[in-house]
Amino acid sequence: MNVNLELTDHCNLRCRMCSQSLREEAHGAPHRFMDFATWQHAVAGLSDLDDVTLCPHWLGEPTLHPEFDRFVEHAFAENVGNRRFRHFKLHTNAVIFPESRASLLTRLASDRSAAADTFLAIHFSLDAFSPGVYTRVKGADRRELSFRNVERFLEVRGSAARPVAHVAFVVQEENVHEAATFVDFWMPRLRAAGREPQLTAEWPAMDRDAVYLRRWNSGDQARADALHAAASAAVGLPVRPRAAGSF
Ligand code: SF4
Repeated sequence: MNVNLELTDHCNLRCRMCSQSLREEAHGAPHRFMDFATWQHAVAGLSDLDDVTLCPHWLGEPTLHPEFDRFVEHAFAENVGNRRFRHFKLHTNAVIFPESRASLLTRLASDRSAAADTFLAIHFSLDAFSPGVYTRVKGADRRELSFRNVERFLEVRGSAARPVAHVAFVVQEENVHEAATFVDFWMPRLRAAGREPQLTAEWPAMDRDAVYLRRWNSGDQARADALHAAASAAVGLPVRPRAAGSF
């Protein structure tokens, strides 16, 4: 089961397609950061659950937490023999992703006190290619920074098998014309790691790097589906109808 322990509901971006960015109060209360005692207690409590995939986020940007590294290190230190969680995955916009964080996450993913596939993937939400489109879609001028951070993460990870990198692009009106350019930019950079990445318009596999053209959940789902189909066709992917229950 997926367990989302939300380190914060703050975010440093305001993406057009995200409910987090459209509300002042994501949970009907002022935005907050989780305190360390709550995290310790919650991680310890995972032992009572079966087959947990731990995700340290829900509506906000987890790396915005001032003690993100400490929290994640604690979770892995507690997970000897996978006694707390079976898998771990992270979603981030990569705006606050220095080399030290890339090194830490790569080290935790190779920690053999738990199963080798414990740290599954990092999902990098980029959603644009050009700086102008990035700023319109993401609500802030952080394209160069986030792209550079993802490229540096790939360098730091080197030939390590984990965590795999999913570079994601939510297809929408403002960026659909950049989908092929985005794919052409990222596929060679993922290949440079020495293994063939997946190009997909559905949820990526958890054992491979991927460029992911993601379907937008929209109030006008027919239009979102048409945009997703156009982007998929532009990069040679099959156009499939939206699966029932998908989000
Ligand atoms: S970065 Fe993530 S949480 Fe923040 S507004 Fe964008 S999609 Fe939402």
